Amino acid sequence: MKPNLLVLLDFDGTLTSIRLDPKKVKLSKSMYTTLEKLVHNKIQVTIISSRPYSFLKQQLPSCVKILGSKGNSLNKLKKFSKQRKHIFRILYCTVKKFPLTTVQLSPCGAEIHFRKNQSLTLSKVMTEVCRVFDTQPVKIIAGRKTVEVIPLGLANKQEIVKKIIKTWQGKIMFIGDDDSDAEAAVEIMKQKGNLAFLVKTKERKITPKEVIKLTGIQEVQKTLKQLL
Ligand SMILES: [Mg+2]
Repeated sequence: MKPNLLVLLDFDGTLTSIRLDPKKVKLSKSMYTTLEKLVHNKIQVTIISSRPYSFLKQQLPSCVKILGSKGNSLNKLKKFSKQRKHIFRILYCTVKKFPLTTVQLSPCGAEIHFRKNQSLTLSKVMTEVCRVFDTQPVKIIAGRKTVEVIPLGLANKQEIVKKIIKTWQGKIMFIGDDDSDAEAAVEIMKQKGNLAFLVKTKERKITPKEVIKLTGIQEVQKTLKQLL
């Protein structure tokens, strides 16, 4: 038993493989069981993801805590619905420059997907998105083969993680994969006794020295099983 241990996990690319079609992403049975076992061993498990709560709820065991939409409440998301549509329209015009890319509304804003364009790099898309939104009140978030833009008033993962650190009375183990997770990992590691892991990816630009690198989802599961 690990009293007061919080295992804070990202979803896509950390617990599940990245798929060409994000709708087809599915949590494996064995990962599902591992998460269940952690909770049965009195470990608090919280999943923090950009995905909507409804999607995550279908995939995850009911005993884990889910923070969908990066932890932003539904009420808060509603307040920013106009801004989110405005962001979508700007991104829609931006993607026309890049072949094989799509834009869609995300739970917090809108995002460009470029998984189908093998030659397009994250930095190229980021440069263009930053240029287009230069004077707009937004946050630009680099994912793996995605770039998301959200209204300034909505929280990103790093900000929600900061809040969690303030309120959690115990140690935290964090695992993620993309640049937004790397920023959250930096916050986690500021507190003595906490641990942060990042899954290796080609797309991530930031890998803080203090984090532990994992080769893939299998190693994520192995790390979680070591807590049992
Ligand atoms: Mg991820």
